[in-house]
Amino acid sequence: MARKFFVGGNWKCNGTVKSNEELVKVLNAAEVPGTDVVEVVVAPAAVHIPQVLASLRKDFSVAAQNCWVKAGGAFTGELSAEMLADLGLPWVVLGHSERRHIIGESDEFIADKVAYALSKGLGVIYCIGEKLEEREAGNTLDVNARQMKALADKIQDWSKVVVAYEPVWAIGTGKVATPEQAQEVHDAVRKWLADNVSADAAATTRIIYGGSVTAKNCGDLATQPDIDGFLVGGASLKPEFVDIIKSAT
Ligand code: PGA
Repeated sequence: MARKFFVGGNWKCNGTVKSNEELVKVLNAAEVPGTDVVEVVVAPAAVHIPQVLASLRKDFSVAAQNCWVKAGGAFTGELSAEMLADLGLPWVVLGHSERRHIIGESDEFIADKVAYALSKGLGVIYCIGEKLEEREAGNTLDVNARQMKALADKIQDWSKVVVAYEPVWAIGTGKVATPEQAQEVHDAVRKWLADNVSADAAATTRIIYGGSVTAKNCGDLATQPDIDGFLVGGASLKPEFVDIIKSAT
């Protein structure tokens, strides 16, 4: 079954009103394949979401980078899934390695967040990935399977989940996974879905790659059979993001 190519731009804690204006201008002017071929989503910093929502072309969507684990209320500094849904955002990124390993969010906490966000109608870009020491110890597939299981324990419906495989050692380091390394994990994650969720979830869930993706390296990654798109950090802040979108074809 065809899985529509998915390209996400994770702007992280970057940007000013002015730099966003310039970036949106570039994206709005870009000639890219249509929405029948590629789904494009950008995730600005929370404070910039309304600006980007108002100015970005309508065939691209806007995502949040995080949200809270349950309904809002007395949770200073948090954003609720309800608030994101109220703004009309279709997507939220959850489980990013910077939240797992810098902020200290656990597998279970993230899975609870995903389940809650899905229950409010949001789609979720669910990030998984091993650290360098885990890869070197030969535990890559186990770590990714553990992160998949944490979520499978909490949700049944995977139709609004995009899995982003982002090896931690490749994020922001300039050290991209080789197409073979990425394909091996994507294939394993898809098999994990087939064995533990359903053949349908395995066939239809998009598994995208993230970690030092650039205009230069995206072409070889995009041709791997189980790589269904990208989650892009640093390069999503530059005009080369357009070339990464074009790797869909
Ligand atoms: P990077 O970040 O492209 O800068 O490596 C990817 C991500 O963290 O999503």
